[in-house]
Amino acid sequence: MTKKLTGNEIRQMFIDFFVEHGHTVVPSMSLVPGGDATLLFTNSGMVQFKDVFLGTDKRSYKRAVNSQKCMRVAGKHNDLDDVGRDDTHHTFFEMLGNWSFGDYYKKEAIAWSWQLLTDVWGLPRDKLYATCFQDDMGNIPSDDEAADIWKEQHGFDPAHVLFFGRKENFWQMAETGPCGPCSEIHIDLGDERDNLRGTDHVCGVNGECSRYLELWNNVFIQYNLFDDGRLEPLPSKHVDTGMGFERIVSVLQGVDSNYKTDLFKGSLDILRSLTGHTEKEMLADFTPYRVVCDHVRSAAFLIADGVVPGNAGRNYITRMIIRRGARFGTKIGLHEPFLAKVAEAVVEEYGSFYPELVKSRGAILDNLTREEIRFARTIESGTAHLENLLSELRATNKMTLDGHRAFDLYATYGLPFEISRDIAREHGLDVDEEGFKAAREEHSRASGGGKAMGKTGGEDAEYFAGILKDLQKKKKLGEHGIEYDPYTSPRVKGEVLALIVNGQSVQSASFGDEVEVILPKTGFYIESGGQVDDTGYIRLLPSPAGRGAGGEGREAGSWEIEVTGMRRASAGVIVHIGEVITGQPSVGDMAIAEVDTQRRHDIMRNHTATHLMHAALHKVLGEHAVQAGSLVAPDRLRFDFNHPEAMTPEQVERVERIVNDAIAADMEVTPKLKAREDAIAEGAMALFGEKYGETVRTITIAPLPGAGTVEQTEVVLHPTATVEQEDKYSYELCGGTHLERTSDIGAFIILSEGSAAAGVRRIEAVTGRGAYDLIVHRFKLLKQTAAALKSAIEEVPYKVETLQDEVSDLKKELASLRASQALSTFNTQLSNVKTVNDVNVMVLEIPNSNADTLRTLADKFREKYPGNGIAVLTSGGTIIAVVTEDLVKRGLKAGEIITSIGGRGGGRPNMAQGSLPDPALMNDAMSKVTGMVEQKLK
Ligand SMILES: [Zn+2]
Ligand SMILES: [Zn+2]
Repeated sequence: MTKKLTGNEIRQMFIDFFVEHGHTVVPSMSLVPGGDATLLFTNSGMVQFKDVFLGTDKRSYKRAVNSQKCMRVAGKHNDLDDVGRDDTHHTFFEMLGNWSFGDYYKKEAIAWSWQLLTDVWGLPRDKLYATCFQDDMGNIPSDDEAADIWKEQHGFDPAHVLFFGRKENFWQMAETGPCGPCSEIHIDLGDERDNLRGTDHVCGVNGECSRYLELWNNVFIQYNLFDDGRLEPLPSKHVDTGMGFERIVSVLQGVDSNYKTDLFKGSLDILRSLTGHTEKEMLADFTPYRVVCDHVRSAAFLIADGVVPGNAGRNYITRMIIRRGARFGTKIGLHEPFLAKVAEAVVEEYGSFYPELVKSRGAILDNLTREEIRFARTIESGTAHLENLLSELRATNKMTLDGHRAFDLYATYGLPFEISRDIAREHGLDVDEEGFKAAREEHSRASGGGKAMGKTGGEDAEYFAGILKDLQKKKKLGEHGIEYDPYTSPRVKGEVLALIVNGQSVQSASFGDEVEVILPKTGFYIESGGQVDDTGYIRLLPSPAGRGAGGEGREAGSWEIEVTGMRRASAGVIVHIGEVITGQPSVGDMAIAEVDTQRRHDIMRNHTATHLMHAALHKVLGEHAVQAGSLVAPDRLRFDFNHPEAMTPEQVERVERIVNDAIAADMEVTPKLKAREDAIAEGAMALFGEKYGETVRTITIAPLPGAGTVEQTEVVLHPTATVEQEDKYSYELCGGTHLERTSDIGAFIILSEGSAAAGVRRIEAVTGRGAYDLIVHRFKLLKQTAAALKSAIEEVPYKVETLQDEVSDLKKELASLRASQALSTFNTQLSNVKTVNDVNVMVLEIPNSNADTLRTLADKFREKYPGNGIAVLTSGGTIIAVVTEDLVKRGLKAGEIITSIGGRGGGRPNMAQGSLPDPALMNDAMSKVTGMVEQKLK
């Protein structure tokens, strides 16, 4: 091969070759498989022909050729983990294939694949291997037919036919249905491409190393498989082939990475122009580059197929891919939105074959930038929160982050699971994927997305009602069942009444068991009104009181259960959900159940602060800003409220200030049980749609008697409020746990204000320790910035501004220096040009210049040699040619000169401009131009 084929040329040659052999070109189907609900994305060329093989669909053609867009990023085929780490995996890729529907068979398929690879593409015959099927289980006949056909191919080494078993060389669509043997073509890339060179490994086709590469799989569908294992020959036999496009391009272009093919060149060039890295620097830290290129390409194709970023299913994948790409960009210093710039290169590279990219260009660029900006708003606080969770995890010697927490990170900060997992893995930890999925499902159910199922749906309520009845009969529990009091004491003693493991009541549980514990009374809060479950411990009470009847015959020893959650299993039954972390708890043991008080205290700070903020919102925005949803967790609070538009930064600041004033005022928080009607009449805030009993719990926050008036903290009055309530700051119906005094909140900082749904805004905030952590984190960043700038903290903004000015001055200075340098190079050459047949010829590369400068210089050349001159000037990828008028009359044209060098472009005969795809073309440009002059003027 004299000239490297481009990716686009290789794809076209594949298609043309099979068209010449009677195939119909079938366009790629969408990445969203129509009519196949079992599949998230089209993941192979087969998808659109599945029904033809199953016999339920007929086409007007019997031979087809295509290049199919594929995504493998979810479900059974998920390559996401490997993308970026190596040179061969992609989330999006193309699959080239030729197809016979009951038409030609092995003889033609094998011969054509051989011809294309060797005659057309010129791959070395002695480096190619073919694998054929031989049943390792001894039931299905060997595919000697294919092996014999291979041996007949011109130049094929018969010793290169290898036999493999079911795993490698037998294909089936599903458990039953069409199936058959396949024959793969592999290439030996040579010892130098062996990633395991010098080590003890299986070195060969289907071995362990990268030396042997599978290029093409030819599947021969000839049997129908029945569920009793019986194989019957199909009446008409089919051929289904697949060749990974990126892979064959890498082989034909002789590069050791798919990412070094021209398919990614445009994207990488743009990235490098943004990072300022040299090629060497890029290759030294190639992973982020690979991930960004891969993800932008996927996102562009997804959006072109109508899959925009969103929260569920395919849309979630698009969101995740974009956000993950953006995050990897930050690893190479890219913080401003940049994905759209890379996407332009994707549209440029693929637009001619996939016109949907060109058509959706605007949507692709807009969606990428919008999503990137959205993500940038929350990534800092999201990552900070995750890092906190991870250090907590490490402190407790755990390796895996709870899936629920990972889901919270997504729901609150838009941090997709895959990114949380990336970050966790960078710390040597992991995230529970099943747990995340479960939490997401639960969430979508809670928001009305699906049917209630499973434990929380109360399907075992009857079982627990039975346990309750039994305990009541034994006089262990009264008529109201288990007593619930999260308000009085965080420590409650009681007898272990029941232990449930795997849905079964047991006498005793063992270390490591997931267990549900029933005690006569509990002080643990059960999630309600947005406030999350308490966690804590249940321990054996020190003897002699501890070991009860259930412990007889066992050795005495302490035990401990870590409580991770709570639930109401049925009316009157509250269970502690946890894990036995030491010993063996037994029914009848006397135990003490202790709430994690530090965590509970954090929760109470956030709950009391929520009430203060609710009141502040009414003051700043008006009475319409009522609660629409709330989450009160230990690490943050989230509050949704009705308001038609985004709050201004000033409004957010005012709310934050008012709440902090109320904290400083050290107000009193008083819970009180009241008759519902009285509370409502007094103006207590109640939530629409919430069911309240006859007796309600109210929370009043009010200044201490004699505390005087507090600035900024005016009373928020319900329209029906009586004069008596005027000294109340906040008055709500609430079952949550609260502080006694507002000063205990410490500090309140709003993290974000955004949209939660149409007409509903969402505020996220931190208090107490969370606020302190946030301040410390932000201060640290600021200190680091100040240190890097060698300035005092107060001077950072001024310093940055000065630096920006300096950079822009330097850029201008550099540009003018480059221009004068270009001019001086040019001037030296101008008096020193080559003469061919009395024509003055100048071929000159002027580094770091632009088209304008090149044109100015070209004019200077024409001034100096008005009668008989040709100049070719290049810089970067730009090329300009000028030909003086007399020579134009003698048949020399500027455009032709550019083409003869290998450039593209055009213009007038005396002046043309274009682009040079490869700077190396300049090496023999002089000889090409002189050759052309000699030929035209001879
Ligand atoms: Zn090897
Ligand atoms: Zn409340």
